[in-house]
Amino acid sequence: MAYYAFEVIIFYLVITFKRKNTEVMRSIKKIHKAEYRPIADLVTYSPMPTGDLQMIDPFLFLNHHGPQTYGPNNNGLPFGPHPHRGMETVTFILEGDISHKDSSGNESVIYSGGVQWMTAGSGLIHAEISSDDFKKFGGDLEILQLWVNLPANQKMTKPTYRGLQQDDIPTIAFDEGKITARVISGELNNTEGAFETLSPINLSVINFKTTGKLQLNIPREHNIFFYVIKGELKVNGESAKALHLVEFENNQETLNIEALADSTLLFGHAQPFNEPVVARGPFVMNTMEEIDEAYQDYQAGKLGSWKN
Ligand code: MN
Repeated sequence: MAYYAFEVIIFYLVITFKRKNTEVMRSIKKIHKAEYRPIADLVTYSPMPTGDLQMIDPFLFLNHHGPQTYGPNNNGLPFGPHPHRGMETVTFILEGDISHKDSSGNESVIYSGGVQWMTAGSGLIHAEISSDDFKKFGGDLEILQLWVNLPANQKMTKPTYRGLQQDDIPTIAFDEGKITARVISGELNNTEGAFETLSPINLSVINFKTTGKLQLNIPREHNIFFYVIKGELKVNGESAKALHLVEFENNQETLNIEALADSTLLFGHAQPFNEPVVARGPFVMNTMEEIDEAYQDYQAGKLGSWKN
């Protein structure tokens, strides 16, 4: 009888140990390698959308430009005037700069470490090009642009733009300084992000020194956006190298991250909108009729006009 009781205790200890160490971690669905899709001389990797991964609702699209070095007297970024409607663009300048100008009258040059947040809403025309100095002198360039969807009831909101330099973005440290996170929006460990957003979108850029460890608990109904920009991270037991996006299930809350090299992570999470998405070129709406209307409105000059 005493021996039986001992076995029962061991059994429960084993179950409890397993729960603590595996069952509360989020499962990984798949690790996606970014596709190489250069735009003229601009190095570009695209982890999403691909044939394999349409979106991680409400995150729609990511282009990773560079890292590369431009020589003197270059043409810079190729993104001249073009429209958007129904979504937001969040642009992370890791190296180099972007000169933003739009038909709502916003204009700014944002440098390394800064972020631009543009809510296209009902529509605008913008240009995202390199500064005159960058074109003249050249330099290193690495830029990420993420598209975040707008919920149906905010697709026709007034367009806004805000560009923040590195010093305007709150930073927090973890693991005795081996990890520093720049909190872009939403919050991370109770630190509020630099940008206020229309719907709750959490975004951070996290730098790891090798061996740095970080545990995060994310509501299980939130979708997680996890893209390794540089280095190599182990997350919930699997390794993800630079240019890989980790897609998670929604089964548990915990992420255990460990840096296997000096690394940079673009990390986001949000409640999915669960609304129909119809995306054509620069417009992201809920129906094909709304896409047709966006093209008509653009042709009719309703998204603004462009003056150089
Ligand atoms: Mn654009």
